[in-house]
Amino acid sequence: MSVTTEQPTDLLRRQDPQLADILDGERQRQATTLQLSAAENFTSPAVLAALGSALANKYAEGYPGARHHGGCEYADLAERVAVERARALFGAEHANVQAHSGSSAVLAAYAALLRPGDTVLAMGLPYGGHLTHGSPANFSGRWFDFVGYGVDPATGLVDYGQVQRLAREHRPKAIVCGSISAPRHPEYSAFREIADEVGAFLIADAAHPIGLVAGGAAPSPVPYADVVCATTHKVLRGPRGGMILCGAEFAERIDRAVFPFTQGGAQMHTIAAKAVAFGEAAGPAFSGYAHRVVGNARTLADALADHGFAITTGGTDTHLITADPAALGVDGPTARGRLAAAGIVLETCALPYGDQRGIRLGTAAVTTQGMGEAQMLRIAALFADALRGEAAKTRAEVNELGRGFPPYGDQ
Ligand SMILES: *Cc1c(COP(=O)(O)O)cnc(C)c1O
Repeated sequence: MSVTTEQPTDLLRRQDPQLADILDGERQRQATTLQLSAAENFTSPAVLAALGSALANKYAEGYPGARHHGGCEYADLAERVAVERARALFGAEHANVQAHSGSSAVLAAYAALLRPGDTVLAMGLPYGGHLTHGSPANFSGRWFDFVGYGVDPATGLVDYGQVQRLAREHRPKAIVCGSISAPRHPEYSAFREIADEVGAFLIADAAHPIGLVAGGAAPSPVPYADVVCATTHKVLRGPRGGMILCGAEFAERIDRAVFPFTQGGAQMHTIAAKAVAFGEAAGPAFSGYAHRVVGNARTLADALADHGFAITTGGTDTHLITADPAALGVDGPTARGRLAAAGIVLETCALPYGDQRGIRLGTAAVTTQGMGEAQMLRIAALFADALRGEAAKTRAEVNELGRGFPPYGDQ
């Protein structure tokens, strides 16, 4: 391989035009449609650079200073920086940055604290629990005995009286708080009290809000939970990956539960990219970003309500909004389809009442693009147009809106 100053994208185009076309297509799709998937964001070019670095070639099983492979001096430095930055950012005694994903982080937390067959109390899947919170299609539902708590059908909020009753009745070994769609913050102190009363571990699955926590725009679970599981790619704006935070007393168990129990060699380029993202999140600009994400979500939720959407819990404290479009004459899946045809990308989700599905969206990505209050009002109007079936006209307006806020500048 010769050393070249050619741009990596030009090189790929020359060598493999088929794949270059696919990647270009995805770049265009992201730039010309609205990314309102609640779990997505745009990483910085610096994070992408770390992902495309030579650390992608490196095997480094084990932990810094205790590796099963040679040549790990730079891998060790990268991981030590990532761990130190994560600990400082979240005020945690210990951080494991090797988990490949949010699900891998939860798997490791269970492996560290539980045995197969143990009872675990977590938010039920029909109310916004994640697959790893007891889905029969997931290892969690197969290997543990999950009991699900719900939300109040009228308010959409967690019913802490019910959590306490279920905890007293089932005496779980662990209680999990966290959700894929809850727009309001969990009351970590209430969960801690209930866990203490029944002698359970408290695991916070903060995959969604951890980026808001980093920016000081959401309460931190770190002082309350025994183990905090998280992703690095949602509001936190890092590479796809997982992370686990815990107190010193669980550090060794957590590390062994990640490697060698549930994973082999860590992805060192991803760990370097996590370090870059933690560095970005520690700066004052990120705090401004996190607060704008929440401000935009509140503005968008209010504007959607004005257009007739029923907003779960009446609003949001986070980047997340869930809404029932029934008053506009469509259910969640139909709404998702019409919005997709108009270039507005989001998911369906469970609603706190009945079996019908709603829509779930988030403001992390559009806020990274620089959109603010005026754009949120415009987006809400585009939702209403799209649901009325004005796909072509709305698609053109979405395209124009996106062109004003290119996620990676004009490149
Ligand atoms: C996103 C999410 C996960 C899983 O993250 P992956 O990286 O997709 O495995 C786990 N728990 C919750 C609550 C999530 O929102």
